[in-house]
Amino acid sequence: MLREAETEAEERYSQQIRFAPIGAQGQRRLGEASVLVVGAGALGASLAQHMVRAGVGRLRLVDRDYVELSNLHRQTLYDEEDAEAALPKAVAAAAKLRRVNGRARIEAFVADVDRRNAESLAADVDLVLDGTDNAATRLLLSDACFSRGIPLVYGGVAGSGGMTALLVPGDHCCLRCLLGEEAPGGEDGPTCDTLGVISPAVEMVAALQAAEALKALTGNRSALRGTWLTVDAWHFSVKEWKLPPPVEPCPYCGWGESAAAARRELAEHGDSFRLSANGERAKEQNATEAALLCVRRAVAAEDVSIADRSESATGNALFGDDREAAKLIVLCGRDTFQLALKPSVSLSEWRRRLVAAGCAITADNRYLLRASTAAEERIVIFAEGRALIQGAGEPERAMEIYRHYLSDGTGREADETSVGF
Ligand SMILES: [Zn+2]
Repeated sequence: MLREAETEAEERYSQQIRFAPIGAQGQRRLGEASVLVVGAGALGASLAQHMVRAGVGRLRLVDRDYVELSNLHRQTLYDEEDAEAALPKAVAAAAKLRRVNGRARIEAFVADVDRRNAESLAADVDLVLDGTDNAATRLLLSDACFSRGIPLVYGGVAGSGGMTALLVPGDHCCLRCLLGEEAPGGEDGPTCDTLGVISPAVEMVAALQAAEALKALTGNRSALRGTWLTVDAWHFSVKEWKLPPPVEPCPYCGWGESAAAARRELAEHGDSFRLSANGERAKEQNATEAALLCVRRAVAAEDVSIADRSESATGNALFGDDREAAKLIVLCGRDTFQLALKPSVSLSEWRRRLVAAGCAITADNRYLLRASTAAEERIVIFAEGRALIQGAGEPERAMEIYRHYLSDGTGREADETSVGF
């Protein structure tokens, strides 16, 4: 049986094994490796496919969204049947990936990555691949990776271009230091809402991410690029900046007594410390300040970075008070708002309530329920207690829909603590 598996692997991966830097040893390492891919949209689905086809032994995939017709021009794992069935992307992707490589262990999660689950999702993997579409989730991934010493392959796409870097704890500074602490804050700018996105840009960035991942997983550390790279597939350009080293006092990527003190302060004061003090501390370290500023300036000059920041900025700015802001999050690109519900209500109970309230049910599977209001706005409820409101246009209207259909004033209010942004 073992011999049979070895023979099959030799045949399946023969061309990859023939590639000298990987070879038979690298292929064995891939088979023993575990990776986490966060997001199964355009980037994430492509990354997951690269990893599973290359022979990575275990893939953990997490995504919060479901397949729609508007995804199909760039999200190459999905087809019209997936969109018709309104399958969660993690579920549809896992089914396809199992058909691609039946020997890979695929773990799929339909969930939003937040501060509470980021650590456990990254707990036992060798590498994390970023296929998300927003800065807030990326920073959580960076925190989880740097506190556990796991390499993070960042990637972001909008319009015809994108950016990518493989950040190795111990060798490079973290994403929080790179983007600066203003990242989750409030500058408005072009996003995939305004720029759109084309499939070649996605594949270009995914290919660069996958190549670095393969180098890291097969032990080709000296071949790692070590740069922050921006590319544009339409106007063709490639630019590179050397990644700065760890920032000594940073609680995530730093080292020594000052980083330890920063970690203690972080444990004591939480987010407020991180947001106010970490950026200032990063600036204190003269040796890396110039390198950091250089990359930050490059990041700020690219539309994609601004797109990266826009979701959390919008999410924080929707309503004046924090409680409301925490409830409602804008998902980039599709006139979609997300909020958390109490998970104690079953999908069948939600179905009964929405029908009673005059909604038409347009999709109903074991993972989610989709309903259309009289004004043809869509409400999607996931089994884990999360809702998307689509077609509302304005956040105020999304909140009206929430209050009318999803809040009954009996303790089933949206739970502001369930959303970690
Ligand atoms: Zn850092």
